[in-house]
Amino acid sequence: MNKGKVYLVGAGPGDTGLITVKGLECIKKADVIIYDRLANDEFLKEAKQGCEFIYVGKKSSNHILPQDMINRVIAEKASEGKIVTRLKGGDPYVFGRGGEEAEILVDEGIEFEVVPGITSAIGGLCYAGIPITHRDYASSFHVITGHLREDEEREINWNALAGCRGTLVFLMGIGNLKHISESLIKEGKDPKTPVALISWATRYNQRTVVTDLENAFETAKEKNVKAPSLIVVGEVAWLREKLDFFEKRPLFGKKVVVTRARTQSSSLSEKINRLGGKAVELPSIKIEEIEKNTRLENAIENIQSYTHIVFTSRNGVEIFFKKLYEMNRDSRALYGLKVCSIGSGTSEELSKRGIKADIEPERFVSESLFEEMKKTIKPSDRVLIPRAENAREFLSAKLSEICNVDEIFTYRTVIDESSREIFEDVISGGVDCITFTSSSTVKNLIEIAGDGYREILDGIKLVSIGPVTSETIREFGLEVYREAEVSTIDGVVEVLKSL
Ligand code: SAH
Repeated sequence: MNKGKVYLVGAGPGDTGLITVKGLECIKKADVIIYDRLANDEFLKEAKQGCEFIYVGKKSSNHILPQDMINRVIAEKASEGKIVTRLKGGDPYVFGRGGEEAEILVDEGIEFEVVPGITSAIGGLCYAGIPITHRDYASSFHVITGHLREDEEREINWNALAGCRGTLVFLMGIGNLKHISESLIKEGKDPKTPVALISWATRYNQRTVVTDLENAFETAKEKNVKAPSLIVVGEVAWLREKLDFFEKRPLFGKKVVVTRARTQSSSLSEKINRLGGKAVELPSIKIEEIEKNTRLENAIENIQSYTHIVFTSRNGVEIFFKKLYEMNRDSRALYGLKVCSIGSGTSEELSKRGIKADIEPERFVSESLFEEMKKTIKPSDRVLIPRAENAREFLSAKLSEICNVDEIFTYRTVIDESSREIFEDVISGGVDCITFTSSSTVKNLIEIAGDGYREILDGIKLVSIGPVTSETIREFGLEVYREAEVSTIDGVVEVLKSL
């Protein structure tokens, strides 16, 4: 059988723009992508359909898969005849054990190619405003692992490193920073030598801390500098003040949620990212009709036994009427029933079928509908609520205290795993604000958020494109933090810049 082929690809330091053209081609043609923590997983979006993704973790202290297992997986997938792209952060041969992975392939007779990448050891400094060499300050540079095995430790010539005027860049060194700085000082390096600590270089959450050699360890502790970080020792670090361009961009470091309407894709995300922020797109939700719904069929058969019917969403209306037509009936079947509706979208959908809702609360929430219905509802009434399986229980629970309620699930909203994960970020307060560019983006988000949306969104800044959208936000009982002065995407971006 064809033995497949492996591409060892450098994904660059993090910014998705910093991969080579060839590296990207390898992602696009791969049958399997094996990637680790430092390779930006945004690249996976570029893979072809059906491509298998294997995450092999790798934190310096917590290898999700030990290296020999990684080697095995790469070799195995290739020997199944597949194109395997092994995506590694930075350059594949700068630490990270790329050399060993390649050796195994040679030993196993598997064809392979290596695609170099921009190493964080150079590119990371660049994005922090630090040129790794400079005519006035550094005429060489040295890249050193800070994660030393005992026998490697002996190989490090601290004396030579301390004595040279080149820039020293330590990778995987944060856990060893005390030892590194002390060793350099002990061997005669000036304790005042500037040190830059750059975390998550080239990503939206890049952070740079500048200190000096004698204070490096304490400062790192105080500022909670964590891996992955680069330690840069040398006078070039001072240039950052002048040459920083990346952290100065207007939306730098801001994490902004962009909620899409069902089909709309967003140029807003692109703008946010270009200005240095991180747009988190909440994917739109999908509606899945409940099939073979005999309860719904029975309810329609006996529709005249109800006194009220409640619709809580546009989809609820659509699916109910679809069934009604399938059963050879139409709007006239609802003759005599009081029709209750939550939300302007729901009422609009009803009006397309020639129905004007009898009860329609001003605010688009179950609480308000209940308040309205409570005024007239009698114990002898029977209420039919065809609704989403995963919607709120509130209305039916409250109404059942007064009269008979038949709640029938007609559809469910399905949210894929990725949007749930993203939403968890929202919950944990990991975002600065949420943007809404239309009323349907508001409704979409609420649907994804589910029951406790008010508590979930509490404390997060909600930015609206204009008065109509703001109105919808308020109808859901939420507060608009700022509204764009001009109701356009650029207007929203202006608001974001000023947050
Ligand atoms: N092959 C990679 C390095 C792998 S070793 C490269 O060429 O960049 C892993 C170490 O690289 C991390 O511990 C950290 O010190 C450094 N590193 C990689 N990417 C980084 C980033 N975006 N920001 C800061 N440090 C990074």
